Amino acid sequence: MKYAQSVLDLIGHTPLIKLNHVTGDIKATVLVKLEYVNPGGSIKDRIAVKMIEQAERDGKLKPGGTIVEPTSGNTGVGLALVAQQKGYKCIFVVPDKVGEDKRAVLQAYGAEVVVTPTSVAPDSPQSYYSVSDRLVSEIPGAYKPDQFSNPAAPGSHYETTGPEIWNDTDGKVTHVVIGAGTGGTITGTGRYLKEVSANRPESDGGRVKVIGADPAGSVYSGGTGRPYFVEGVGEDMWPANYDKTVPDNVIAVSDADSFEMTRRLAREEGLLVGGSSGMAVVAALEVAKDLGEEAVVVVILPDSGRGYLAKIFNDKWMRSYGFLSGGEEASVGEVLK
Ligand code: PMP
Repeated sequence: MKYAQSVLDLIGHTPLIKLNHVTGDIKATVLVKLEYVNPGGSIKDRIAVKMIEQAERDGKLKPGGTIVEPTSGNTGVGLALVAQQKGYKCIFVVPDKVGEDKRAVLQAYGAEVVVTPTSVAPDSPQSYYSVSDRLVSEIPGAYKPDQFSNPAAPGSHYETTGPEIWNDTDGKVTHVVIGAGTGGTITGTGRYLKEVSANRPESDGGRVKVIGADPAGSVYSGGTGRPYFVEGVGEDMWPANYDKTVPDNVIAVSDADSFEMTRRLAREEGLLVGGSSGMAVVAALEVAKDLGEEAVVVVILPDSGRGYLAKIFNDKWMRSYGFLSGGEEASVGEVLK
């Protein structure tokens, strides 16, 4: 009989798939690592399991304990599913700008969601940060993983994501392209791949090059932290988990280019992924266009496109922000009019 002992056994070991259509006449092999096949639907399941197991080992989480994290997105889903399997409670603090469907996903996994007003100063007692800190101090046995600074987050990618890429390419990967949000993925995966390839001869590709993909405006690619629409990546500050020495280069990508590529990945490659995936592929093709056929470029695609149907995959939303140029086909409603 072949079965998993629990949903936790299905985290990681995600597949690599070759891009065949959006690559045009690029000679290099461009492979994407599909993280939406994780049980919680994103790469964040990996850090959830490691942060919780590390906290158990450190005695910070004990049976019956409560996990409190200010997150509305993929990390919340990962933490919620790992926590329930291990018998912990979860409370997520989310600002009220977060859509109801996102809150509903967390509640569906059995987590409690506390909604805080967006329109208050960060030091207000009602703010997202203040409320989560207060809950941690008031609830006995509460633990806040803090994905921005927890070393188990990059650690999980050093132990799993990096080795998977190395092994699945038989040690032939030459470039890895990764979007950075908290920085955990690029720091852990990039560090592992650089270390393992440190002595590889130049004739076999030399040391793996780590390329960051970043929304234009974010600090990682030299921006001021001005707003952008791609979700989950970029920052307006430098988190502890982002190690600046790991990326060899960081490429800024516009919202428009990220979203156009996200839509092409669905239509042309059969990959319904999120906007940060489209962004990373734009950066990867930028790198790959100057490389020869011996190059193997691996791009991490962090989550699924299902969470973005009302935005990136909605023509009306795209047009309202000027992301859709005239050539795109009209939506069904417009055709019927
Ligand atoms: N893409 C998406 C959709 C994400 O949610 C995240 C996590 N914030 C990332 C990319 C970036 O991952 P990391 O936080 O490890 O830098």
